[in-house]
Amino acid sequence: MKQIDVNAGKPYPVKIGRGLLPCCGAELKGIGLSGKVMIVTDDNVAPLYLATAEASLKNSGFTVFSFTLPHGENAKNFDNLVKLLNFTAESGLTRSDTFVALGGGVVGDLCGFAAAVYMRGVHFVQCPTTLLAAVDSSVGGKTAVDLAAGKNLAGAFYQPDLVLCDLDTFATLPREEYANGMAEVIKYGFIRDAQLLAVLEQAFDEEAVVACCVQIKADVVANDEFDRGERMLLNFGHTVGHAIEAVSGYTIPHGQAVALGMAAVTRACVKNGLCPPETLSILLRLLARYDLPNETGRAVNELFGWMGKDKKASGDSITFVLPRETGRCELRKMTRAEWTALLS
Ligand code: ADP
Ligand code: ZN
Repeated sequence: MKQIDVNAGKPYPVKIGRGLLPCCGAELKGIGLSGKVMIVTDDNVAPLYLATAEASLKNSGFTVFSFTLPHGENAKNFDNLVKLLNFTAESGLTRSDTFVALGGGVVGDLCGFAAAVYMRGVHFVQCPTTLLAAVDSSVGGKTAVDLAAGKNLAGAFYQPDLVLCDLDTFATLPREEYANGMAEVIKYGFIRDAQLLAVLEQAFDEEAVVACCVQIKADVVANDEFDRGERMLLNFGHTVGHAIEAVSGYTIPHGQAVALGMAAVTRACVKNGLCPPETLSILLRLLARYDLPNETGRAVNELFGWMGKDKKASGDSITFVLPRETGRCELRKMTRAEWTALLS
């Protein structure tokens, strides 16, 4: 088992290992929690892991309730948030009680938002069951639901009290979902850690790799909890990736879109002499190795309209994450004319 401590405004541990879910009750008790727990999950994860989590929590003396969302991004909306909050109130949870997110990013984001607003904030534990949630969305305190106008447009910064990542739960992940998580893992290597990229070129130890990614995220979040500077580095491949997701009507999953975005930006940087061709070769090799695409089959300029509407755009400018060498990216604020020229 590995533990990473996240030094956000509210510090908390991330525990990564095997066999953690069957002991989740003791882990919650260990950080001083007691009373009622609302487990939020989805209809794919519930039949696999809900009984294990419930049994462990009950064994440790918790009174347990559960709320199961339909799986998929469409469930991450205000309707379901309100249903969850009403059910939580009917179940009699008070300010000293706890929400537990058991699932992927969708469950974590919605459950975290509920924990942030229920009685102005109650305890919150993340139990990510996807690789993507483990290395990305469960750490850092971003919670949200989607609006008709776009993804994650309503939310709050709300850090969990504990993140419990049981790697055994990844055994049931569909291959494509695992690949989605690998896109974010590869991203961490390019923004911060050439050594991680070397590790990914061979068979790797999951615990060590997840811990490495969480450590990078923890470092970045500790320096910039509210996403005003350094945290933007985590957007490598995401500005183009979000546009690809949107243009596809969200039929291309997030990880694949990020892979395509990283490939597009890295190609552009090589073409413009900002980054050595070797960095692009490594990226393309890793994307191929982990079942991720690198060609959109779509002209990049079709994406420019969407990119201007990105949540991270400010006025006419967007801060891009540009790869400069293997394991190092740079933030560069560019006007529409500048990024159009770079990516065309
Ligand atoms: P994310 O990729 O952001 O974590 P989701 O929360 O939508 O996104 O999870 C992706 C899909 O994988 C969902 O359909 C979810 O029900 C399913 N899922 C999550 N965890 C597991 C698991 N451990 N085993 C099998 N399926 C899972
Ligand atoms: Zn992402």
